[in-house]
Amino acid sequence: MTLDSKIPSGPIEDRWDNHRFDMKLVNPANKRKFDVIVVGSGLAGGSASASMAELGYNVKCFCYQDTARRAHSIAAQGGINAAKNYPNDGDSIYRLFYDTVKGGDFRSRESNVYRLSQLSLNIIDQAVAQGVPFAREYSGMLDNRSFGGAQVSRTFYARGQTGQQLLLGAYQALARQVHKGKVEMYPRHEMLDVVLVEGEARGIITRNLNTGEVKRWAADAVVLATGGYSRVFYLSTNAMGCNVTAAWRAHKKGAYFANPCYTQIHPTAIPQAGEHQSKLTLMSESLRNDGRIWVPKKAGDDRPAGQIPEDERDYYLERRYPAFGNLVPRDIASRAAKQMVDEGHGVGPTKVGVFLDFEEAIGRLGKHVIEERYGNLFEMYEKITGDDPYKTPMRIYPAPHYTMGGLWVDYELQSTVPGLFVIGEANFSDHGANRLGASALMQGLADGYFVLPYTIGNYLAPRMGQKVGTDHAAFAESEQYVNDRVEKLLAIQGERTVDSIHRELGTVMWEKCGMARSAEGLEEALEEIPRLREEFWSNVRVLGDDEEVNESLEKAGRTADFLELAELMCRDALDREESCGGHFRVEYQTEEGEALRRDDEFTYVAAWEHNGVGKEPTLHKEPLEFEYVKPSQRSYK
Ligand SMILES: Cc1cc2nc3c(=O)[nH]c(=O)nc-3n(C[C@H](O)[C@H](O)[C@H](O)COP(=O)(O)OP(=O)(O)OC[C@H]3O[C@@H](n4cnc5c(N)ncnc54)[C@H](O)[C@@H]3O)c2cc1C
Repeated sequence: MTLDSKIPSGPIEDRWDNHRFDMKLVNPANKRKFDVIVVGSGLAGGSASASMAELGYNVKCFCYQDTARRAHSIAAQGGINAAKNYPNDGDSIYRLFYDTVKGGDFRSRESNVYRLSQLSLNIIDQAVAQGVPFAREYSGMLDNRSFGGAQVSRTFYARGQTGQQLLLGAYQALARQVHKGKVEMYPRHEMLDVVLVEGEARGIITRNLNTGEVKRWAADAVVLATGGYSRVFYLSTNAMGCNVTAAWRAHKKGAYFANPCYTQIHPTAIPQAGEHQSKLTLMSESLRNDGRIWVPKKAGDDRPAGQIPEDERDYYLERRYPAFGNLVPRDIASRAAKQMVDEGHGVGPTKVGVFLDFEEAIGRLGKHVIEERYGNLFEMYEKITGDDPYKTPMRIYPAPHYTMGGLWVDYELQSTVPGLFVIGEANFSDHGANRLGASALMQGLADGYFVLPYTIGNYLAPRMGQKVGTDHAAFAESEQYVNDRVEKLLAIQGERTVDSIHRELGTVMWEKCGMARSAEGLEEALEEIPRLREEFWSNVRVLGDDEEVNESLEKAGRTADFLELAELMCRDALDREESCGGHFRVEYQTEEGEALRRDDEFTYVAAWEHNGVGKEPTLHKEPLEFEYVKPSQRSYK
């Protein structure tokens, strides 16, 4: 199959407008004749469901939490980017576009990124109209702060709870449509398969997580808004329930998986404290606006931070990257922290950490200002570590956080399976090899509020009256597959817990496909993962049965999928013989230890086709073209 990305031609600033004009429309009276399934109710799925229902489509929205409001988007802390230029500091749609293409290390599509920058303006207007309480200046104007990879302030925020406030906005819009009968909401339903009829997505199979009931659902199109797969590393900043199951099942049914090795390791999480920890906690990137990152100059220095004099501290980001300082992009800040720790400058009980210090900012601005800006983050830090960050520096270390890879989609957000659309973190679309801070919320909401509601019409318009019922044989087959798999998991009755195997997988992935990757390590991982998968299917013990709430069974199904995805990630990382963004192959680095791209050979999206578990997948390449931002060695000096 040739990948048709459907990227429009013409001047970049007109492409989205022109494309919208060229697309077919479904007239208002006909929209109510179409049913759309949306899996996921986070910022992407919630906004898409509400917007499509508002247009008139009949939407069924599914999530595995007990309410749409608990989607993982609620965890987003720091903010959302938009090129409004309220601070009058030189921002523009073009600058946001430029920063994002460069920040992604020239591995994203220019047309998508430009559209994202344009739509960023609409998102803020939409959210404000919904009553999202963004922080304001004394004058009443919406306030902005800075995030990594930018020299302007363009990040809108609501203290450290931006995701929660945006999600409440989307949820209100969703609840309104539920009330009007245009959205049917199905919480505690986990999608376990997508149903294809004559090659087109026509429905899904779900399992009710409270009762175990397996059910068929038919529609005219299916949308996946199911989030990212950082939990493949076991320890990550993501919620424990985050998983790849929906995307992976779609992949096994023909949706190509793009750039699976592009994962983001966030530089500022609270360091791991012990062996039994199951999650890591993020300290928002916004803290780098005022916090200064440093380590002791002397390796192995054990003194408490307060006893290390100024001239014996190494503010290594400010030293190495004077232009951006502590606000370099995440991939660069994370690698620099790792390097400091590897060279023996780590701090804290485990020595795997660096300081994030607010002493100077408190002296300059006063404690009350810092409290206003980051109060809830400081409280959270103190609760977890017992240290008061107003008095002693925070300790931070990089942690798996976000996945730029995901299901391949074209400009209309449609996967390689017709009728299957993918939005938000679940797709690969806009961030290239590294996502800039505060741009995931922007992308999820652009997809959900403003892109998909138009593009889905282009797919549906010629399909009037072509309904398929759940009595079609394809539904029975999919349902059987789901039931067999549940039965198989329960029947193993081995000796290992699901968590112990997932944890082991996480260690392999962190060590061999994490912040630094080498051909040797990846080849080892490619031997270890299938062995671990075999161990899982022969020796895992899933407690309980399938007729009531069974967390062990839920986790087992998700871990089984991670065990397959992990192999694809390593294969992709091995195949990409260059370094770019978050993908750092130790063999390809500059003399100064920065990522060394090989544009002549690797300026493409790697889209993988599944050929069966344990079988070589097929690589399809979508070439990337840069007409506007010419690829160069990224510099933040
Ligand atoms: C701690 C933290 C802080 C962050 N802070 C920021 C920030 O400040 N700014 C920023 O831009 N980004 C931030 N991010 C990233 C951002 O929050 C996410 O990328 C974004 O919220 C993802 O939204 P989504 O709608 O794509 O997916 P999610 O919010 O993860 O939603 C996924 C949905 O899919 C459902 N689902 C998944 N699988 C299934 C299944 N099989 N069946 C049924 N339902 C399913 C879930 O129930 C859920 O409703 C942060 C991330 C983390 C972890």
